[in-house]
Amino acid sequence: MIISRQKKFREILRNLKEQNIFIIGCGKCATRLHVGGEPEVLEMEKGLKRAGKTIAGWTVLSSACSIPSWKEVLSQNPAIRESDALLVMSCGTGVAAISRFADIVYPALDTESLGGFSSDEIMEEQCNMCGECTVWMYGGICPIAQCAKGLLNGPCGGAVEGKCELDERPCAWDAIYEKLKKLGKLEYLEIIHEPRNHAKKLRGK
Ligand code: SF4
Ligand code: SF4
Repeated sequence: MIISRQKKFREILRNLKEQNIFIIGCGKCATRLHVGGEPEVLEMEKGLKRAGKTIAGWTVLSSACSIPSWKEVLSQNPAIRESDALLVMSCGTGVAAISRFADIVYPALDTESLGGFSSDEIMEEQCNMCGECTVWMYGGICPIAQCAKGLLNGPCGGAVEGKCELDERPCAWDAIYEKLKKLGKLEYLEIIHEPRNHAKKLRGK
């Protein structure tokens, strides 16, 4: 699941120079996260109308990042052709997929990381897609995604009662320590992690 959050409404409005807007939501991650499903699309429609925009129409695609046929999307939503721009309430991949077919496409969300579900609980920010997965050394808790400073070689020392000093989320390193202790793998903490090779993020490397 891709984790994204809604941009501030005033930012969306500042970007949208066109008048006649068609809104597209996504029936997968954005719906599950309550940032781009039908209720949020309807809320966006209301807000844009209040701000003086014309709404050509709206739809929630079953999956914005995977469009088997744009022709079919158009036949089900002919108002797209009459609109000046599309506002897409999905992750960046959905925006990119739709941009292959449509000219003026604006994202309504900011895409942050990969998450998932466990026992129906939404797990946010589990992976930053770094291209070189070493999460086993951290007991399955990724410090790149979950430590506020992305520290690879241990905590910053600022946590208070298990909470991060920056934003009060649980300190990832506190959780890593507890998990490795439980697994009997505290020796993993002695592994020195070199600075990451960011070139590995490049496709085909
Ligand atoms: S190390 Fe962390 S950010 Fe990199 S791929 Fe593994 S889980 Fe994702
Ligand atoms: S308090 Fe913990 S989670 Fe926060 S920056 Fe320091 S090590 Fe990372």
